[in-house]
Amino acid sequence: MSSSRRPMIAGNWKMNTTPADGRELAAAIASGSAAYGGVDVVICPPFTGIASAADAVSGTNVQVGAQNMSAEESGAYTGEVSASMLRGLVSYVIAGHSERRGLYCETDAAVAAKATAAHSAGFVPIVCVGENLETRKRGDAVSTVRSQLRASLSGYTGWDSLVVAYEPVWAIGTGEAASPQQAQEIIGELREELVALAGEKAAAGIRILYGGSVNSRNIGPFVDRPDIDGALVGGASLQADEFVRIVEMTARLLENPA
Ligand code: PEP
Repeated sequence: MSSSRRPMIAGNWKMNTTPADGRELAAAIASGSAAYGGVDVVICPPFTGIASAADAVSGTNVQVGAQNMSAEESGAYTGEVSASMLRGLVSYVIAGHSERRGLYCETDAAVAAKATAAHSAGFVPIVCVGENLETRKRGDAVSTVRSQLRASLSGYTGWDSLVVAYEPVWAIGTGEAASPQQAQEIIGELREELVALAGEKAAAGIRILYGGSVNSRNIGPFVDRPDIDGALVGGASLQADEFVRIVEMTARLLENPA
C-alpha cells in the first residue's frame, strides 16, 4: 500500500443476508471498525438489504456499495436496478464481478457502460478483472487482465473516481488465495495499464484492490505490497468479527509500515 492512497477494505455479501440480517451485520461492522478511521470500509449488501444496511451505518465511517447496477436509466428492463434507485443509498458500485461476467454473461463492453453510468451518477465504480485458471496455466494472465481492464474502461473518463479490483477467478471462494507476489505482479501491470489509459498522475491515485479468499490471517502480506491498496472480500465479509479483523490488520500496517 502506498501512503498516497487511502486503503480500502470492501465486503461483497453476494446473495446472502435478509434485510434484518444485513442491518445487524452492518451495525456490528460499523461499531467494530470505528477505531480504524484511516481505512475506507465499504459493505456491499444485496439490493434488498441496501436500505437497512445504509440506515445502520449512517453517521459511521462505513460506506455502502451496490454489487451491480444497470447502465440504463429506467424502463423495460425487468429485474434491473438503476442509478436513480440507488442514489442516496450507496457511494460505490461494483462493476464486472467475475460471477456477473461468468454466470450472467456480462461482457467487457457492458462493464464499461456500467462503470461510466455509475460515475455519471456520482458513484465510485469498483471495476473487477481477473483471469481464470486455464489462462493462468497458459501463462497469459498478464496480457488477459490488461486487455480486460482496457476494454472494461473503454470510454471511461472519471479517473479521479475509480477503484479497480484484481480478482483471479481461481481464487474466488476457493480458499486458495493468490500469493501476494502473484497479486503484486498483476496489480503492478494493471497500474501500468492505467498509466497508459489515464496518465501517470491519475494512475498513481487510483486504488487497486486484491480479491480472492482474503481473510484476517492472510491480508497482511497483500496490503504490505506497494501497489495493493486493500481488498475486496467475499466469504469473510459475512462475519463481522472476521471482517473487522481484516480492517484492523490493514490499519495496523498503515501505522507501522514494513
Ligand atoms: C469476491 O467475491 O469478490 C471474493 C473475493 O470472494 P472470496 O473472498 O469469498 O474469495
